[in-house]
Amino acid sequence: MNIDSPYLHPQYEALSREEITKLQNERLQETVRQCMKVPFYQQKFKELGITADDIKTVEDVRKLPFTTKTDLRDTYPFGMAAVELKECVRLHSSSGTTGNPTVILHTQRDLDEWANQVARNLWMVGLRPNDVFQNSSGYGMFTGGLGFQYGAERMGMLTVPAAAGNSLRQIKFMRDFGTTAVHAVPSYVTRLYEVMQEQGVDPRRDTKLRVLAIGAEPHSEEQRQRIEQMMGVKAYNSFGMSEMCGPGVGFECQEQNGLHFWEDYYIVEIVDPDTLEPVPDGEIGELVLTTLCREAMPLLRYRTRDLTRVLGRTCPCGRNHVRLDRMRGRSDDMMVLRGVNIFPIQIEKILMTFPELANNYLITLTTDDDNDNMTVEVELAEMFTDDYARLQKLNKDITRALKDEILLTPHVKLVAKGTLPVSEGKAVRVVDKRKVYQ
Ligand code: ADP
Ligand code: ZN
Repeated sequence: MNIDSPYLHPQYEALSREEITKLQNERLQETVRQCMKVPFYQQKFKELGITADDIKTVEDVRKLPFTTKTDLRDTYPFGMAAVELKECVRLHSSSGTTGNPTVILHTQRDLDEWANQVARNLWMVGLRPNDVFQNSSGYGMFTGGLGFQYGAERMGMLTVPAAAGNSLRQIKFMRDFGTTAVHAVPSYVTRLYEVMQEQGVDPRRDTKLRVLAIGAEPHSEEQRQRIEQMMGVKAYNSFGMSEMCGPGVGFECQEQNGLHFWEDYYIVEIVDPDTLEPVPDGEIGELVLTTLCREAMPLLRYRTRDLTRVLGRTCPCGRNHVRLDRMRGRSDDMMVLRGVNIFPIQIEKILMTFPELANNYLITLTTDDDNDNMTVEVELAEMFTDDYARLQKLNKDITRALKDEILLTPHVKLVAKGTLPVSEGKAVRVVDKRKVYQ
């Protein structure tokens, strides 16, 4: 047992499976009572012919209605509030790339619990109050900003709200402030490293960096390992979503064998996205989360659309909170090309095995002569564009490896470093230019 977090509810972190279930039984009942203050849930319960009294144990979660992003949009802005607006102290909103954005409300207690969650994770990966934490993720509505800020402060670290972008300034801060830990989206970390290289900065020699929290977007194990090697650090996967609070929902421990999802805060289900029935442990399905500690906006069986699977319910670290595999992506990230289902992360996994390649890539889908095609553009790690034979061989090897993985032959284009677009927030990996046939 390696759980020594003095301030961070070790009593919750180190619960046995039986204790987790007992706590969930109690908290689910409270949550359902709280939900009964929301007209949306009153209506849903009526339709299903159930009352709050029917929900006694965590098993009963299956009687409850699902909640979807569409429900949150339909009740925009305040329709899901379970408390009066005057009780709320913070509002976050998800990006709303399609349709109405969604609104998430927090009471002060919600914010406190959220900070505790993030603090727990940061402690879990070995950070301590004498660490210096630089948060290089977007602030504002994006929860990766304030979420990590309050969590890192709660843990007692000197916390630098560097925000995303301006890589030269980021690197200067790291060196001047003795930054030991950074949080950023993985695609931004690789960008930072490239700028370090251009500036002749060696993160091992010139910084005190030792821990990275990377998350908010899907990334492969291969990408993580690359980041660790480049930066000379340990990089831990961090999962969050605004609807559940933000970062802090799931985090890898030092074993790096999946993300512990905190079951004192959430009931975790993995369901078949078509039948909505639970799938057995080990099988991929859609992650469905029920909040257990939220006051302002409790959510029942929220369909995240993220696809993952249960890896285990125990861990050598001593924590018994369920371990989930890294996300494959959301069901809406899946590309269907000539009848084959493909996730961007499958492409990434293959590209990352070629040391000749840098980290940035872009997948473009087009329709040419009535056929759907995929082009994978990827940046070269170094310039050898004049060595045609080598380039051709590399191109052929990558194409073959991709074909083995996705069962289709993509067009591979090797491009010079710095050619493809970089975003400060979550990376855009796929551009779909296909004609849509009705
Ligand atoms: P938005 O919905 O505007 O993108 P969120 O920050 O709420 O804003 O995004 C949450 C989503 O981000 C998750 O549902 C998931 O798809 C993705 N995500 C977050 N963390 C990870 C992670 N560690 N690995 C893969 N995907 C992640
Ligand atoms: Zn663990």
